[in-house]
Amino acid sequence: DLKQLQQRGEFEWLLPATGRMRVPGVIFASRELVAAMDEKVREQIANVAGLPGIVSAAYAMPDAHWGYGFPIGGVAAFDADDGGVVSAGGVGFDISCGVRTLHTGLKLADVERDKRRLADALFARIPAGVGSTGTIHLGAAEMNAMLKGGARWAVAAGYGSDADLAHIEEHGCVAGADPAAVSDQAKKRQRDEMGTLGSGNHYLEVQVVSEIFDAAAAAAYGLAAGDVVVSIHCGSRGLGHQIGTDYLREMVVAAPAAGISLPDRELACAPLKSSLGKRYLGAMRAGINCALANRQILTHLARGAFAAVFPGVKLPLLYDVSHNTCKEESHRVDGNKRRLFVHRKGATRAFGPGHVELPPEYAKVGQPVLIGGSMGTASWILAGSAGTEERAFGSACHGAGRAMSRHEAMRRWQGRALVDELAARGILIRSPSLRGVAEEAPLAYKDVGAVVDSSDRAGLAGKVARLTPLVCIKG
Ligand code: 5GP
Ligand code: MN
Ligand code: MN
Repeated sequence: DLKQLQQRGEFEWLLPATGRMRVPGVIFASRELVAAMDEKVREQIANVAGLPGIVSAAYAMPDAHWGYGFPIGGVAAFDADDGGVVSAGGVGFDISCGVRTLHTGLKLADVERDKRRLADALFARIPAGVGSTGTIHLGAAEMNAMLKGGARWAVAAGYGSDADLAHIEEHGCVAGADPAAVSDQAKKRQRDEMGTLGSGNHYLEVQVVSEIFDAAAAAAYGLAAGDVVVSIHCGSRGLGHQIGTDYLREMVVAAPAAGISLPDRELACAPLKSSLGKRYLGAMRAGINCALANRQILTHLARGAFAAVFPGVKLPLLYDVSHNTCKEESHRVDGNKRRLFVHRKGATRAFGPGHVELPPEYAKVGQPVLIGGSMGTASWILAGSAGTEERAFGSACHGAGRAMSRHEAMRRWQGRALVDELAARGILIRSPSLRGVAEEAPLAYKDVGAVVDSSDRAGLAGKVARLTPLVCIKG
């Protein structure tokens, strides 16, 4: 039922501001994707649009689906000088979950020959699964240094090189992190979890570039058909989750005194100018640095596994981008530049060509946008489109998005059968949890091709390369 929505373009739908909404909602997606979207997504967009100090509109990306409070695939920006808020639920519990993609310099035929050995080498070195621990154990001082330094800390500790940092958002380290705002419990949960993948939807995947869609962008990114790449999807592990839990609780309690009434507990937020809002920002940024450090260490482990199978191979970083964040950014709104706090929850930053924060190699073509699909279909590399800053504060989709709950997927599929079926198609899955594999069945996700088409045609991020899986280490 699309009755509430006004179509503004082939891939853009307006939810007019009614009731408590301060601004309209905007959904970027094809008619088919909007029609298939959970009714709850619209309800959640309307709720977000009612939060204090929201600017322009509450946005939903083509992969949007129901989340806690904010939809997953949601984007919302707030102005601190206009009563704006920061929301723990608007960032998500896996703070700075994101994807990084590495070149391998190998071609499909090179990898096919040793694929099984590579899968085993990766699985042996990458700690995966619920409660998995790494070989690194952080004491209190090192923990704080990591939370301040992010991937920069990891590189200084011997995981990777300075060249990696140039291809990470904010050069691998976000400013304003406040380790003192992170609870002891959050730190304790992270002590032994650095360099671990986590569970479920998190993965390390070896992929082949199966088709190029934008020759200029592919050249700038150093991609050609038949190239083998590695993508790592994970976040801030127990630390991020605990920060989310701690602050959500605190924001719920503090909301009435701040004059904020919440239609949904999970929308809990605090004024950006309040001490609670500032503490959350400091903790959340520490969470971002934790995720960046974590992906950097995993990169080091992946490099070790590749070198064991393909001596001399290097894995330079193409890019690393997060999709659960709140970032202070400068945006033009109605002709004026404003400092905004942009929440992207299950949405990827997607700056267009010429943006000052892009590495010079990518400046002409736009920021790499790294999209997961599923372990059995495809994943994508997109490029931030020109004009995307005016459309959704420089944002795009982050994945295919779930089409059904984990529970429903578990009922329908069996892990063992899925692994065998994928192996017959040449895709090797290695996972500590067959149940986790069933929950992540490729058909439990939406059609990632349709999602990226919408992202491309809506002018958010354009298609550059399709990636097909060869090996997937699943958490
Ligand atoms: P999320 O960050 O919302 O947990 O997941 C992001 C996206 O990753 C999902 O929407 C899904 O499309 C994708 N994804 C989940 N599991 C896998 C996997 O094993 N391999 C690939 N390539 N993508 C996946
Ligand atoms: Mn994620
Ligand atoms: Mn995650």
